[in-house]
Amino acid sequence: MSDGDRRDDPRSHGGRRDPAEVLAEVFGYPSFRGDQEAIVRHVTAGGDAVVLMPTGGGKSICYQVPALCREGTGIVLSPLVALMHDQVSALELAGVRAAALNSAMAPEERAEATRAYLAGELELLYLAPERLSAPGTVELLQRGRVALFAIDEAHCVSQWGHDFRPDYLRLGALAETWPEVPRIALTATATPETHREIAERLHLDRARHFVSSFDRPNIRYRIEAKGTVRRQLVDFVRGEHTGEAGIVYALSRKRVEQAAEWLREAGVDAVAYHAGLPASQRLEAQTRFLREEGVVVVATIAFGMGIDKPDVRFVAHIDLPKSVEGYYQETGRAGRDGAPAEAWMAYGLADVVQQRQLIESGDGDEATKRNQTAHLNHMLALCETTSCRRQYLLRYFGQELSSPCGNCDVCLDPPRLWDATIPAQKLLSTVLRIGRERGRTFAAGQHIDVLRGVASDRSRSLRLDEISTWGIGADLSETQWRSVARHLLATGALEARGEWGVLAPGEPAKAILRGEAEVWMREEVIARRSAAAPAKTRAAVAGLDEAQTDTFERLRAWRLDEAREQGVPPYVVFGDATLRELAVRLPASPEALLDVPGIGQAKLERYGEAVLTLLSDEPAAAGS
Ligand code: ADP
Ligand code: ZN
Repeated sequence: MSDGDRRDDPRSHGGRRDPAEVLAEVFGYPSFRGDQEAIVRHVTAGGDAVVLMPTGGGKSICYQVPALCREGTGIVLSPLVALMHDQVSALELAGVRAAALNSAMAPEERAEATRAYLAGELELLYLAPERLSAPGTVELLQRGRVALFAIDEAHCVSQWGHDFRPDYLRLGALAETWPEVPRIALTATATPETHREIAERLHLDRARHFVSSFDRPNIRYRIEAKGTVRRQLVDFVRGEHTGEAGIVYALSRKRVEQAAEWLREAGVDAVAYHAGLPASQRLEAQTRFLREEGVVVVATIAFGMGIDKPDVRFVAHIDLPKSVEGYYQETGRAGRDGAPAEAWMAYGLADVVQQRQLIESGDGDEATKRNQTAHLNHMLALCETTSCRRQYLLRYFGQELSSPCGNCDVCLDPPRLWDATIPAQKLLSTVLRIGRERGRTFAAGQHIDVLRGVASDRSRSLRLDEISTWGIGADLSETQWRSVARHLLATGALEARGEWGVLAPGEPAKAILRGEAEVWMREEVIARRSAAAPAKTRAAVAGLDEAQTDTFERLRAWRLDEAREQGVPPYVVFGDATLRELAVRLPASPEALLDVPGIGQAKLERYGEAVLTLLSDEPAAAGS
């Protein structure tokens, strides 16, 4: 087919459609968000772009709309083969002609996608970067017409980042093969270093850079001291997020299975996910999480990249993440739909010791270890901070939030601070004395026993009760002492060494012991919610009254049936935000439906009638 023929096809994408119109008609959104419009116009006009936008910011629109406005097919390079099918289904439901080309597909499906591409029928084509290096792919793409290249998860090109994929390095060559085709690289990983590497390695020298605010105002950050983590986790998930979808992150496979078991025993629909499970089991966990409502996945960090389920209501960490980047990426998977969501973490002394040991015993060279230690220290500073968590997080990514956020635990429930200088001095001098007088030292627990004067066979045999700090800390509980130890470890005044995590004073200890530096700590309240807050009977729908919640639930049930029938995740049918608007506005005509965000022409045609019927059966409306 020649270009001329294609332009005559009224359904072709011949550079004539206006971006705002496409957004409204196809995606059903009344307006662009944030930088979306500037990006879309720039790329539609043929410019290259580097886009840094947090998870949930709306990156897909930035390349999908230009692909629909420009002539030819938008090629999307995405590392997530397992999710391409859902991405394509979602587009097809919106009336977009899309396909994927990957090794997981049957040969005849691949042949059909190829044919459609060459015939100029596709608006979007999804490929894994490794596909592009397979023989024949470049030639195939050259035989058709490319509207743009979108390079998703572009941080995978960074060798020092956490998701490096060698195939990304080859994507720089696109600039030479298709010098006239616009390229847009997108990522939610924002450190200045990664940003620079993306531009450099993908040869995006002439690109415009769009750096969005990394704030995720709908996510509430909460970090609490670890007590009995099982109880804390169950209280959080069952007590505060009944029936809602969420992800719980743990560090090891064993912890993952254990925590999934705790939740199941508490009646939560929880599934485990880690790299040690058979592929079929992992796929099932992922599918249930995506396709069903209210499933909780307990996982190692192997889970979640590219899972763009918009209605994840919480992300919980029961072990300490290794870096703020990791923490932000993982917590960012909550609340992509913009509705309220929570990022909750419990962390304690053992986490700090364990992470420090993991670094020390790791096989990295000195530079790697220093790098890891620096990452961990930033993470610990976030945990220990006594000011707004969000301000800290944004500052880490080089952005400023002018005033405290009002939506983190510190803002909502300002911690009471106490002067822990004297206890810190007592603990530090105990560590020093035992080291000096007994020629050895111990892990935190034994030092705390000395301070509290807890007699044991061991303390007797080592004559620890002769140490001059024996019993001088009986005024604090063991829990309080553990917090002091954790704080000193987090700030580097103490170091944990070797297999047993024996303590040694770090550099900042000197100033504390000389009385030149004060130690202020948050007073810890290990929240006990189960008694105070009864478990919710159903998922609260923020901001809806009872009748609206009923409608919302009925829409949700209808959506689930619909999604099952089509074999797609429920949010592909309609997002929660759309259901919420429907429940509030109760539209009674097709025109009114079109005004609801998330409903475009194709969805109106497909679902309009069913939704109107369901809404007109509204008990409240029928009764009036
Ligand atoms: P990202 O890839 O940046 O994490 P997505 O592209 O998945 O984000 O979009 C996140 C959510 O925001 C999706 O549910 C999407 O439908 C919605 N969204 C994107 N752009 C808009 C917009 N202009 N108006 C309303 N909702 C939008
Ligand atoms: Zn805050």
